[in-house]
Amino acid sequence: MNESRRFGIVPSTVVLLASALAACSAAGGDDGAGVPDGRDSGSVRDGSSGDSGAADVGFPDAGADGGPAANLAANVSKDSYLHDLTAIAVLRPPGSPGWQAAQDLCASRFESLGFAVERHAYGTGVNVIGVKPGASADEIIISAHYDHVADCEGADDNASGTAGVLEAARVLSGAVFDRTLVVACWDEEEAGLLGSKAYAARALERGGQIAVSIVLEMIGFKNDVEGSQEMPTGLDLVFPDQAAWLKRHKFKADFIAFVADDFAHETAAALVRHSDEIGLPSILLELSQDLKESSMTHTLKRSDHSPFWKNDVPAIMVTDTSEYRNPNYHCAAGPDSVATLDHDFAAAVIKAAVAAAAETLRVAGSE
Ligand SMILES: [Zn+2]
Repeated sequence: MNESRRFGIVPSTVVLLASALAACSAAGGDDGAGVPDGRDSGSVRDGSSGDSGAADVGFPDAGADGGPAANLAANVSKDSYLHDLTAIAVLRPPGSPGWQAAQDLCASRFESLGFAVERHAYGTGVNVIGVKPGASADEIIISAHYDHVADCEGADDNASGTAGVLEAARVLSGAVFDRTLVVACWDEEEAGLLGSKAYAARALERGGQIAVSIVLEMIGFKNDVEGSQEMPTGLDLVFPDQAAWLKRHKFKADFIAFVADDFAHETAAALVRHSDEIGLPSILLELSQDLKESSMTHTLKRSDHSPFWKNDVPAIMVTDTSEYRNPNYHCAAGPDSVATLDHDFAAAVIKAAVAAAAETLRVAGSE
């Protein structure tokens, strides 16, 4: 996650945010993914009442008869993710051996999975892009930034997202889709979203058709302790449904957040639905075009989804909310290390992302 001096959401910003479509969800049940929230349930959809009481919608059969997308997502492996997470979570400021190793891992992995690989050198940095063509040139991008600031391992930020992309790539590489899958490891997010900006600009220049860009930005940290989730000041005034849900949820930092623009609604809704199905609590914030362009929503534009939004490409940030729950953000209060993360949580997030991506890609079968 990019550093920001614009901490929190000031009340005037929050008023604007209130008009965004938004939804919270928390599903009961436990599919064995290890996300232990099987007790608190309830959901909010598109600004409706915060007490829809969605009862237990546990999904014990997830992966067995959950449809082709969910079946595919059931192949997500926590061990495989953890292996990559551990390899990436070393000091890796741009130009360092750790940075080179992460870049090389993205490239070699994508290649071994059968993707057409490009090291996209855009001047100051290098993105790694993998393409798996479908019948349609419409692209679905799943990405994460692999760089990090100096003197911090950045396990959550963003070795977790990068390892998530590698695992998603592994699982999705075995299926046949109508649309084209692009997987990407962005460089220099911490320097100002430079890698994703360069890619989005080039894609626009080439007339590429990007259906949606899904950005994994910190997916590894959770905390079941009540009161562990912070909320931007004034959020309750403008996101009453989400705030009400969070309050009922006792401010437990155990949910995943989806920050989407409304053009990405289909995929965002799929992310929420597939999260529900595996018992992963989630919150969805959907921004209208006006909100997306507003200078007052900086807090929601601090990662690699933002350059896509700026080019009118549908995009979604998948995040554990960064410093709003993780005190070790940029090693502020302690090391952002693998030992501080919850790998069952991350695996559940990757499952939801893979299922939503597979649906958007229009899964056709297995290779
Ligand atoms: Zn960061």
